[in-house]
Amino acid sequence: MLKKGNKLYSILTGSCPRCHQESMYVDKNPYHLSKIFKMHEKCGHCGFKYKIEPSFFYGAMYVSYAVGIAFAVAAFVIARLFLGANLVQTFIAIVLTMIAFMPIIMRLSRNIWINIFVKYDVSAKTDTP
Ligand SMILES: [Zn+2]
Repeated sequence: MLKKGNKLYSILTGSCPRCHQESMYVDKNPYHLSKIFKMHEKCGHCGFKYKIEPSFFYGAMYVSYAVGIAFAVAAFVIARLFLGANLVQTFIAIVLTMIAFMPIIMRLSRNIWINIFVKYDVSAKTDTP
């Protein structure tokens, strides 16, 4: 279902937004918190520089807001509608969800942010950087 060439592939796997050949991150596991923002400077396959401009990824904070809301709504729906939790329990569930998924939310928003600006390019593999 998820194939290279689909933006979702790059967003969900954190792979290079241009060639989808390798991970942008030094450590793929976002729960290794000390390395959560450690990224390769550029792609080893197509030579694409991930940091398009200085402090490019600050913009990802706007995205993380939206992604965070999405997770909060999901937590609300699950706790309130499916598990029948009361208001306080639902609130706690949302807070815990936000904390538990924070590393994933941060990474996802970076991936979404860079994919807004960069398009997949099949021929990128053969480009000389
Ligand atoms: Zn690449």
